[in-house]
Amino acid sequence: MARAWHLKSRPVAMPGPENFELKELPDVPLAQGQFRVRNAWLSVDPYMRGRMSDVKSYVPPFAIDAPMQGGAVGTVIDSANGDFPVGAQVLHMAGWRDEAVVGPELMPQKLPEIGVPLHHWLGNLGLTGATAYFGLLKVAEAREGDVVFVSAAAGAVGSAVVQIARNKGMTVIGSAGGPEKCAWVRELGAAACIDYKAGPVLPQLAEAAKAHGKGGIDVYFDNVGGEHLDAACALARDFARFAMCGMIDVYNDGKPQEMRYLIRLVSARIRMQGFIFTDYLAHMGEFQADMGEWVRAGRMQSRETIHDGLESMPDAFLGLFRGANTGKMLVRL
Ligand code: NAP
Repeated sequence: MARAWHLKSRPVAMPGPENFELKELPDVPLAQGQFRVRNAWLSVDPYMRGRMSDVKSYVPPFAIDAPMQGGAVGTVIDSANGDFPVGAQVLHMAGWRDEAVVGPELMPQKLPEIGVPLHHWLGNLGLTGATAYFGLLKVAEAREGDVVFVSAAAGAVGSAVVQIARNKGMTVIGSAGGPEKCAWVRELGAAACIDYKAGPVLPQLAEAAKAHGKGGIDVYFDNVGGEHLDAACALARDFARFAMCGMIDVYNDGKPQEMRYLIRLVSARIRMQGFIFTDYLAHMGEFQADMGEWVRAGRMQSRETIHDGLESMPDAFLGLFRGANTGKMLVRL
């Protein structure tokens, strides 16, 4: 019997195990156009926290007592859709479960057989890599010679941003929690990485920008918000561009942000733009060509933090908010 994690209740601040319930799914026959997938890997993402709350956003909230959703990859085991035959490997949005009935509403993509491990389609080759690529190159319009600051730089999106920027001839300053993560960010090609858990962000960023960035930054790729965003405002050079990808620092408590340097948007003529990676789907071909080439040439590394078994999904998810992952957080089934 297939099982799925259901949303049991909505969290007020930090979610906990009490908000999730693992339940069996009814055994339903396939309708024409549907197929059944045995999931092999489940994606674990911070944006899922937003869907646990009943607020208006770019995706609807999870319904109470209904299966949760998210990215997943697996193999077709039964099919009533000629485009997705038994044995095909598929990326789709029916995650948080071991087996899924998939139709067009779950945005399935048949994966090409190019000899890469299946889970990479949830990382640099998939939406994670595309988010980094579009945010950096389309939203912030970063170019060779720019000094790029990226927060959560040892995370899935952040580590891709570091490498894309390095591959495109930019100077990168990362930020991450702890010396081990910072060492990896530098290994990926960042000129410097500040450890935001070791002290306030602004003086550390000022020092790194002085050493590597002519005293300022041209681009900020924001995954965190809060203190990181304020420090980026403080050190932005004229006409800096900020790609606003996420703000994990405020997903759980919605605490008021002290933005002492927001005023610099005016004097430094900073352009700040939020984005959702789906805004740029028309550019997927460009992303796949560049990313494919970098992966083949060994110019795109990845790390994964892997939890095993469907039971571990809530633990893996909650770990994102205390930095338990380096690189992409995944559940292997
Ligand atoms: P991730 O970075 O792999 O995981 C989250 C990381 O955030 C943690 O490992 C942790 O690393 C850091 N973190 C957690 N709480 C923090 C805090 N209070 N202050 C500073 N850092 C904190 O996750 P991801 O999937 O790559 O997502 C990164 C960001 O991109 C998230 O904000 C996500 O919502 C956003 N996103 C946006 C889009 C889009 O289309 N706009 C798409 C995908 C993801 P440390 O140990 O370094 O603290």
